[in-house]
Amino acid sequence: MTLEKNQTVELTIEDLTHDGAGVGKIDGFPLFIKGALPGERIDAKIIKLKKNYGFARLVRVYVESKHRVEAPCPIYKQCGGCQLQHLSYEGQLEAKYNQVESVLQRIGHLDNVKIHPVLGMNDPWNYRNKAQVPVGEEEGGLVAGFYQQRSHSIVNMDECMIQQEVNDQVVQTVKRIAEKYGVRAYDEQKHRGTLRHIMVRYGQVSKEVMVVFVTKQSEIPHREEIIEEIVAEIPNVKSIVQNINPKKTNVVFGDKTTVLWGEEYIYDSIGDIKFAISARSFYQVNPEQTKVLYDKALEYADLNGSETVIDAYCGIGTISLFLAQKAKRVYGVEIVPEAIDDAKRNAKLNGVENVDFAVGEAEKVIPWWKAQGIEADVIVVDPPRKGCDETLLQTIIEMKPKRVVYVSCNPATLARDLKILEEGGFETKEVQPVDMFPHTTHCEAVARIELK
Ligand code: SAH
Repeated sequence: MTLEKNQTVELTIEDLTHDGAGVGKIDGFPLFIKGALPGERIDAKIIKLKKNYGFARLVRVYVESKHRVEAPCPIYKQCGGCQLQHLSYEGQLEAKYNQVESVLQRIGHLDNVKIHPVLGMNDPWNYRNKAQVPVGEEEGGLVAGFYQQRSHSIVNMDECMIQQEVNDQVVQTVKRIAEKYGVRAYDEQKHRGTLRHIMVRYGQVSKEVMVVFVTKQSEIPHREEIIEEIVAEIPNVKSIVQNINPKKTNVVFGDKTTVLWGEEYIYDSIGDIKFAISARSFYQVNPEQTKVLYDKALEYADLNGSETVIDAYCGIGTISLFLAQKAKRVYGVEIVPEAIDDAKRNAKLNGVENVDFAVGEAEKVIPWWKAQGIEADVIVVDPPRKGCDETLLQTIIEMKPKRVVYVSCNPATLARDLKILEEGGFETKEVQPVDMFPHTTHCEAVARIELK
């Protein structure tokens, strides 16, 4: 059958893509259809055809997925921050499981790995501890919310259903106070105005709040009055910070950050470990599930106190500090120098002395450690989406640790890397997916890998 643009076709949805669109095939030719769910029989109108695939718009659902639900959020379709709200939470966990299973087979050729059901949240709403919203203007007033999909106009948002309620309230309050004192929003087109973004961070355990103004220039009109009102109105605010981004860019943050009031840090804890979080620190956004993920990583590391452990891609040392409680010594490596500053500060904060942190590329630093005679019993990796550097995997293979624990935010690169480790003499025993980002397509997983 030859397909044409604007043609309506009937098909069955077989799968979901990484961005949550349904995939169905016509004579083997894949079509991507936003809003369609696996198992559904639908009509779709073709909107774009490429050589090997096409895009179509959902027109009618004949047979509905048993997991189809009405998205609870009123701005779900416009916002784009969530991609799976039209799928029940149970259905989302099932889809994430299927995604992990499919890539482990297809890319990793790993057929005998035990994959556990995804660990989801009991209440998968209001989990994010960080809000970062662009600010615009509408009829003289400020709007703070999100960019309309495929555009740069900003839609106001009073409530984000995956955000901790405190963050929504703080954004609203800050917006109202800024508006009262005549602060103008930054205008991207004209490169004029002041306020670009409002960011709020919230310590779920400590209840401490940080407010960050991202502005085009250092002056904020009526700065002192604004600060005074924020302090008076927002309970538990501990830190008010300004980041200055003078550039014509859609990158959110600039290079300069100054404290306007209070502390440079707020604090939060995961399990027994306390963390200092600055405006620019990387910190996991779902604290409840972070604990679940790290506990699993620790369980898979299976430490008895005598081991030397390497934590590659360690960020601000979160996993390293967890591991240090159970290991003889932990070596953490991370490419961002500020993150390592935070990691060292966090080690001190917790009185942890058996960790060393180094700045650099894991694929360079770890071979150097090896050359210095450091022998790792366990290596933990938590790389970004692109996965581990091949040199690093080869170094791990040469170092022959008893165990590798792989924490992954991208099942496809996890599967690719597990295959390389498998060929190098390791065996993947089990994989535990953890849902860190309910209602989005992101999928996190931990793998336990043993030396054969
Ligand atoms: N383990 C941390 C952070 C994981 S995110 C946590 O759980 O909080 C991945 C980290 O890898 C980021 O902090 C990123 O800066 C770092 N990174 C990216 N490429 C790297 C490389 N080649 N070598 C070392 N670290 C790298």
